[in-house]
Amino acid sequence: MAAKSLASCIFCKIIKGEIPSFKLVETDTILSFLDIGPLSKGHALIIPKYHAEKLHELPDEYFADVLPAAKKIALALNAENYNLLQNNGRIAHQEVDHVHFHVIPKPAPGDNEGLVIGWPVQKLTMDELKKLQEELLTKL
Ligand code: 5GP
Ligand code: ZN
Repeated sequence: MAAKSLASCIFCKIIKGEIPSFKLVETDTILSFLDIGPLSKGHALIIPKYHAEKLHELPDEYFADVLPAAKKIALALNAENYNLLQNNGRIAHQEVDHVHFHVIPKPAPGDNEGLVIGWPVQKLTMDELKKLQEELLTKL
């Protein structure tokens, strides 16, 4: 499996051991470790061992271990409430340009701990949804 690395990337440096991290799960294709700026206790990151900026640029084989690792971490944290988060692009909240998945426990309700989500529901008619589906199906 061809790996790809970027010398200036902080997560590539973590994979290479050039900067330290508190590791959790590691396989041939992913590494997970504690987030340095946690939103809650146990906030962890899972990164592919391949430098791709965004999800759609990552070769499929690097996804295989991601969700099993997320499940292991959720079980180890004994987290009843938690979010998986994956940001792509600056305005979508991506700060580190190496694909990563967050596991974020939500230990209590409210905005003080864990992920805080805005959910601005858009009004679309059935016809608009159908048109959109048809458009997308031509590209999928
Ligand atoms: P993003 O906003 O890009 O989805 O999330 C990037 C995450 O990486 C943030 O939660 C941030 O705290 C974390 N992070 C950034 N640099 C480091 C680092 O050097 N070590 C660790 N463990 N986490 C980092
Ligand atoms: Zn990288």
